[in-house]
Amino acid sequence: MKKHLLTIATIAFCMSTAIAQQKAKPEDTELWTPVPASITPPAFVKTTPPADAVILFDGKSLDQWVTTDDVSKPAGWVVSKGVMTVNKSGGNIQTKQSFNDYQLHIEWQIPATITGLGQARGNSGLFLASIGKGDDGYELQILDSYKNPTYVNGQAAGIYKQFAPLVNANRPPGEWQVYDVAWKAPRFKEDGSLQSPASVTVYFNGILVQNNTVLKGPTQYIGEPAYRKAHGASPVKLQAHGDKSEPISFRNIWIRPL
Ligand code: MG
Repeated sequence: MKKHLLTIATIAFCMSTAIAQQKAKPEDTELWTPVPASITPPAFVKTTPPADAVILFDGKSLDQWVTTDDVSKPAGWVVSKGVMTVNKSGGNIQTKQSFNDYQLHIEWQIPATITGLGQARGNSGLFLASIGKGDDGYELQILDSYKNPTYVNGQAAGIYKQFAPLVNANRPPGEWQVYDVAWKAPRFKEDGSLQSPASVTVYFNGILVQNNTVLKGPTQYIGEPAYRKAHGASPVKLQAHGDKSEPISFRNIWIRPL
């Protein structure tokens, strides 16, 4: 009798979970307010990597990168004139090396000719740790958020679907933009449960936009994020988003493992 009750309870639980999952929509985890204030950041200043940095992209080759969905394949993005440009049909790319805590610098540029609206305008992303194929990982959003409203936890410098940036420090399309990131990777216990969550500090064009933000878990497009999968050191990943707008470019990418 007890066994039957347990079975019935299990079936009921599974059904309610399935129904809840069916009902969950991407919009559920979009935040639209408060809208971060827009500020004009200082002009771009060219910098060189620190002496102890690992150079992830020097303007010449994608030797440090592979295709995320088949890591035996070289990264299929385009390198020309010192920059790398997203090849949307080439898929996401990630570093060959894995990292725990680090400091990272990356420069990105939305084409001056960008079209599209909201999330479909120069969408890419910096996955602070890639924990699987596709978009599995912790995404710091890259997007043209210069006078392009979208949900605030999906705008540039937002922790996607989790935390909006403190301010909107975007430069206009056509100008180079900079993320300087301090990442503290999550730690897991031997049994796979969470020991300490990930946290991140981000400067966007020199402006503090994420101040030791504690992440809820890896990025989740639908539903509430949580730390469901234990992992160790992970690659850094760049997103080839499927939007129809002009592909964006990157340069001067370096990392300092801590
Ligand atoms: Mg993105």
